[in-house]
Amino acid sequence: MSNMPDILWLAEIKKEDIPSVGGKGASLGEMTSVGLPVPPAFVVTAQAFRRFLVETGIEDELFKKLEGVDVEDSDVLETTAQRVMKLVMSVKIPKKLEENILLSYKKMGDNEVVAVRSSATAEDLPDASFAGQQETYLNIRGDEDLLVAIQKCWASLYGARAIYYRAKQGFDDRSVDIAVVVQKLVYSEKAGVMFSSHPVTGESSTIIEASWGLGEAVVSGAVSPDNYVFDQNSKHIVDRYIANKIVEIVPDGSKGTKEVEVSKERQNATVLSDNEIIKLAKFAKIAEDHYENPQDIEWSIVGDTIYILQSRPITTITSKTSKKGKDVHGEGNILLEGQGASPGIATGAVVIVHSVKDLSKVKDGNIMVAKMTDPDMVPAMRKAAAIITDEGGMTCHAAIVSRELGTPAAVGTKKATQILKDGQIVTIDGEKGLVFEGDVKRAEEPQAQQAAGFISAPAQIITATSIKVNVSLPEAAKRAAATGADGVGLLRIEHLILGLGKTPNWYIINKKEDEFINELYSGIKTVMDEFNGKPVWVRTLDAPTDEFRNMKGGEDEPEEHNPMLGWRGIRRDLQSKSQFRLQVEAFKKLWNEGYDNLGIMFPLVGHPDEFIAAKGMMKEFGVDVENKTLGIMVEIPSSAILIDDFISAGINFASFGTNDLIQYTLAIDRNNQNVADMYRPKHPAVLKLIEYAIKRCRKAGVECSICGQAGSDPEMVKWLVETGIASVSANIDAVQKIRETAARTEKKIILDAARK
Ligand code: PEP
Ligand code: MG
Repeated sequence: MSNMPDILWLAEIKKEDIPSVGGKGASLGEMTSVGLPVPPAFVVTAQAFRRFLVETGIEDELFKKLEGVDVEDSDVLETTAQRVMKLVMSVKIPKKLEENILLSYKKMGDNEVVAVRSSATAEDLPDASFAGQQETYLNIRGDEDLLVAIQKCWASLYGARAIYYRAKQGFDDRSVDIAVVVQKLVYSEKAGVMFSSHPVTGESSTIIEASWGLGEAVVSGAVSPDNYVFDQNSKHIVDRYIANKIVEIVPDGSKGTKEVEVSKERQNATVLSDNEIIKLAKFAKIAEDHYENPQDIEWSIVGDTIYILQSRPITTITSKTSKKGKDVHGEGNILLEGQGASPGIATGAVVIVHSVKDLSKVKDGNIMVAKMTDPDMVPAMRKAAAIITDEGGMTCHAAIVSRELGTPAAVGTKKATQILKDGQIVTIDGEKGLVFEGDVKRAEEPQAQQAAGFISAPAQIITATSIKVNVSLPEAAKRAAATGADGVGLLRIEHLILGLGKTPNWYIINKKEDEFINELYSGIKTVMDEFNGKPVWVRTLDAPTDEFRNMKGGEDEPEEHNPMLGWRGIRRDLQSKSQFRLQVEAFKKLWNEGYDNLGIMFPLVGHPDEFIAAKGMMKEFGVDVENKTLGIMVEIPSSAILIDDFISAGINFASFGTNDLIQYTLAIDRNNQNVADMYRPKHPAVLKLIEYAIKRCRKAGVECSICGQAGSDPEMVKWLVETGIASVSANIDAVQKIRETAARTEKKIILDAARK
């Protein structure tokens, strides 16, 4: 191993060289060997890096600095990382090694522009995936810049994220090396990514996304790309979607890139010719066959030449169940349009539920149709293959519960209960919110049970932003945990309580408090047991009075004109001490059993006094409040405006409940379909409140999070990460894509900073 040369050209790389050239280098080498058109590149091997550490004399000092670092202490981690990276950058690359690098660079051409990419590797686990942990530098030209870029890649092996990741994965820093790929940069005229097989279903359809300019536009999500589907079985292009491509990313002088507007005539033009699609799909097949795994491939085209830039296994989900609505479009008569509240496609016979009496009519596989669902209906919702409602938006009861059950749902269709008839066969696309006449796609329809079994693969990507998950039903805890989420950012207990069928007050009046406490305790415990040691923020009861009315004991609930603005959340608990106490007793039981990761979140808090009062009451009930994690939901504008006062009052965290924050900022009832199109999560006033609260929390070192529906929207999350949010809690079905969005945004922030 030690006589491994400093440099290996792609054509020289063999399978056994992975420990020397890392995953990326090996992949490019292998692709070259099977005849894929990879742009010329050489790899500065891991052994060269080791020689650099030894010959410059920094090896011992470097590893000593890393010993015993508490990676959970972000200040210590950051300081250590800075020190070690500075050390790596402080020495000069040994003469011989420098000569070898520059000689190879010269062989590539005259002052070629190159991309310099890190390719980390672990000795004992050569294929360990360190993707995204180290740096890449694009548009590098000239000896001096090249050497600096390589040294920066080496240094990035000791970035905070990389050290943290290795510690968490149990890798010894000494056993991890880094190779650096120096590759001719292709100034692509068009570029993109392709999945050799469908990334969700695993079907042998190659999906190609393409746009103008450099591929970064597609990878970073800056542009909606064209989308082409090539069926590898029939060898035909079976679908194409030509997007409106407004911007492209192009090289900016000799360094960096810039975003420019696409010329008018190309904005709606197809990026790829049929011939190019076919060729790309052929390369995708070669890569997939060779690696014996579906591949996620970056490609680019210059003139007539296609280049394959990168290929790695698809890390997202493979499931037999199609979750996309795309296939059914255009094939059926659309009966209704609403909001796509829970993705998936299902076909079945309609059962209209006008009242509780109709619930028993819902059998396994039926399509349940109701004006709106309520907690009484959850048992029937479990059986339904899909759910359609007249009313509601993305955050209504039907939407939340359907997502947790993994059942496709369209909400706010306005007239489903009038238009649809009992027994009628319909197909629903829960992603697009469409209801089709008849059995549109029998062969691929997922039934509710299949959809419910769908879980995202455990996350492969580590993000600095914590990506958590929302849970409302304990039965969804397993699916939630299977997303690999970093904790639960919102556990709504009202679904659990409303499911009991009796109001908390009923338990109090009937002296059955222990029964209530135990139900609550065991529901929360079911969730906590799936998230061992990860933070779980349980929200105290937040049920509007109208939701209690149908329950036993609900007859005493006050009639309110607008329950959304009424006696709910912490306001009610502060006035109903005994109801609050029952909840706190359940929390105490968990804390006493060692569930220290349990945090409590107070809903609908509008003034710091309410937080202080709630904390005081908990203390009165025997909780050691100073040593517990207690926070607030920011869902009334006043709580965002007064965030400094909340911080002074001692909150440990704040989480945006955007579902309410939007309705209270804009005066738009979140469940009223008549004003649904005015419900704008990205309204500047909403963003201003959020931005202000994030910045103040950051400054004070208080974790700022989001658990409203906007946290499941990639575009919003991109903005939130850019604005500095510390964590995001998404719906189960959205965790994976939100994690990817956060990772991409973080990388872009780092890349932009490096280019400055
Ligand atoms: C919110 O308001 O954004 C929230 C998460 O709470 P809920 O939807 O339960 O009101
Ligand atoms: Mg709320």
